Amino acid sequence: MKDKFYRFMQGRYGTDSFNKFLLGAAIVVILISMFWRRDWLTLLAFLLLAYSYFRMFSRNISRRAAENQIFLNKTAGVRRWFQKEKYMAEQRKVYHIYKCPSCGQKIRIPKGKGKIEICCPKCQGTFIKRS
Ligand SMILES: [Zn+2]
Repeated sequence: MKDKFYRFMQGRYGTDSFNKFLLGAAIVVILISMFWRRDWLTLLAFLLLAYSYFRMFSRNISRRAAENQIFLNKTAGVRRWFQKEKYMAEQRKVYHIYKCPSCGQKIRIPKGKGKIEICCPKCQGTFIKRS
């Protein structure tokens, strides 16, 4: 069975970021349509699913790869924003982010060090904070 599937998928495109996005979008639309019943929502979910399956089983690999590249280019800004937010959330768990009162430079201080004097690396000014 597994072997059969493998042979079936040979020479076919498979999945990529764009397909994951299409499947995710289809699931979201299906969830919405459970609470807010509209024919066009069901149709949209079906189209998203059909399109992602079509891409997965497609033999036109270069065309699908080009579509994925367009998708990645168009969403680069959004993805970078999410990555930055995720990074900042992780940083906030371990560090306090202070702003230098004289020049506005952001300074990252480890949490749980008590009252400390912070020296700004940009303007060399010092200020006292609890970390
Ligand atoms: Zn400063």
